[in-house]
Amino acid sequence: MTNKFHLTFDVDLHLLWTGTYHRTALGELSRGEFGLKVGLPRVLEVLKEENVSATFFIPGKIGELFPNKVKEIHDAGHEVAVHGYAHERWNELSYEEEYELIKKSKQILENITGQEIDGFRSPAWSLNDKSVEILKELDFKYDSSLMANDYELYHLRTDDYMTLDGELHFGEETDLIEIPVSWELDDFPYFCFTGKNVGLRSTKDVLECWKLEVDSSIKFGSYFTLTMHPQIIGRGPRILMLQELIQYIKSYKDIKFITLKEAFEYGRNKDGIIL
Ligand SMILES: [Zn+2]
Repeated sequence: MTNKFHLTFDVDLHLLWTGTYHRTALGELSRGEFGLKVGLPRVLEVLKEENVSATFFIPGKIGELFPNKVKEIHDAGHEVAVHGYAHERWNELSYEEEYELIKKSKQILENITGQEIDGFRSPAWSLNDKSVEILKELDFKYDSSLMANDYELYHLRTDDYMTLDGELHFGEETDLIEIPVSWELDDFPYFCFTGKNVGLRSTKDVLECWKLEVDSSIKFGSYFTLTMHPQIIGRGPRILMLQELIQYIKSYKDIKFITLKEAFEYGRNKDGIIL
């Protein structure tokens, strides 16, 4: 059974600071600009050099601000998927707001790429109990924001919730697939200095962590999903680390780099069960 590797990039840029942190200081905005002007080109260059396709989660507003960048990503053979509209604090939205923002962003990205957008990842990975229902209604095929498995895909349920007084409810299983993420496989906690999160770990340590994750994904599962951000992974030493990691993954024989969209072609778990 071939193990599949997903490299994913969340193109938050300036919106990470305005949307999630409500910060508009030029210092923060310049970090977004670094992602746009320096980080993203380096990411695209490494992917080209290594001949691998990746999935880019992009807020609709980034599509409006920088349509040519989105087009460039798409034209380089990568998948484009929705990552909120303005990197909102997703769990603070009403059902109606969430529905409209996903719909609008899907449309913006489809207009730029000329292709149907199949995937969604919520900003900061915070889905709501009605999010699955909305994604189904808007014809999405997968989400990539949750963590109920590490190296296998699974089906999402509608109406999952737990109340603070302990009532736990599992809703109905849908045909929408979850391609799980994890903080262990995200560049943000390791590297992004926000004041509260120190980050700034050495690339040597993180490369070692991620190599062990690669080894264990091959032992225990079928899929490996790494989340990165151009403004974080795009720093010189980190982009070299990413290239080394890709080459390490390639040293395994039976592996394939695929986009999340392509995960459906290979939608089987280790036991060969079709999802
Ligand atoms: Zn994000």
